[in-house]
Amino acid sequence: MHMSSPRASWAVERLLPLPGHGPVLRNHTLSARDGVIEGIVPTTGENVQAGSLAMPAFANAHDHGRGLPTLSCGIPDGPLELWVSRLGVEPHTLSFLNAACAFARMAQSGIGAAVHCHNTQNGRTLLQEAQGVAKAAKAVGIRIAFAVPFAGENPFVYESSAPFRDIFDYPDQFPALSASRYRRSLQEGLDITDALAELESETFHVQYGPVGPQWTDRATLEAISARSASTGRRVHMHFFETRLQQEWADATFPEGIVNYFDRIGLLSPRLTLAHGVWLRPDEIELLTARGVLLSCNISSNMRLASGLPPISTIIDKNMKFGIGLDGMSLEDDDDILREARLLRGLMQTTQPASLARVTAASARRSASMP
Ligand SMILES: [Zn+2]
Repeated sequence: MHMSSPRASWAVERLLPLPGHGPVLRNHTLSARDGVIEGIVPTTGENVQAGSLAMPAFANAHDHGRGLPTLSCGIPDGPLELWVSRLGVEPHTLSFLNAACAFARMAQSGIGAAVHCHNTQNGRTLLQEAQGVAKAAKAVGIRIAFAVPFAGENPFVYESSAPFRDIFDYPDQFPALSASRYRRSLQEGLDITDALAELESETFHVQYGPVGPQWTDRATLEAISARSASTGRRVHMHFFETRLQQEWADATFPEGIVNYFDRIGLLSPRLTLAHGVWLRPDEIELLTARGVLLSCNISSNMRLASGLPPISTIIDKNMKFGIGLDGMSLEDDDDILREARLLRGLMQTTQPASLARVTAASARRSASMP
């Protein structure tokens, strides 16, 4: 519900003040001032709009703000590692227009807040692109958490690119494989984050966004961990989206990558991990103990052939999770209510024993998690 006038009121037939936590209330009037609800009182029911429902706006726990869905650009779905390499053919558009189209679709589906993991179109103009995103968030009236991307490692494969080059008969025909790529330094990324903090407003907040451990070096993860602890700024990172990423982590971090995160202080209630498809029960336990949040992105996992998150374990261990669209909803319509139903449908089909613990109400609660 968008409230643009200084004072407004609505008489609604059904009210869900705390979806998943409390009952449906009937015939209530909501009053608001300057965009903030200041009163909820019962009404006689004479003036209510038949069939009306009021509830908190949904939160999209993980997204990329793609105004042009990838299929529209001719990029076929997954597997993720191949799909990522195809993203290079996305047409470059004005950052404002691209983000505004995506945010407007989200707002139409009832989303009032979203995490925007920014994919740069031009690595040298991140600051300007972010300014366009901030402007789009304000224009649409949606609250955006902007995750500043930190990346650069393993652009093509998760380990040395030398064997990768060897599979080509004529590698010199693919100069991009050996061309030096522009990469922001850690300091540049931290400076841009500080500069963007100046733009923070009701509709634009800044987070650290190490894109994923396989794409970010240890020095970056450790610096972000320390900065987050000293500033309170949140961290948002893709993690264990595919089995290959898990294999890479197992080979790279003999102590266990989640234990490494814990050792450097990265695990805290300030951290949200996106996907977690390949998390093991003991890892879920440690993440839960540290208060880490998870974004489950079912449509994206299906479209990118990543697998499905261990929902029953996540629920059994009481890990807090939200629902993310990842710019990859099944119909490219950013319909988060359908995404919540998809999660529930998946549960009742594959984990019927756990369904008793996952009611439709709790699925809604996840979708509206702040
Ligand atoms: Zn993502």
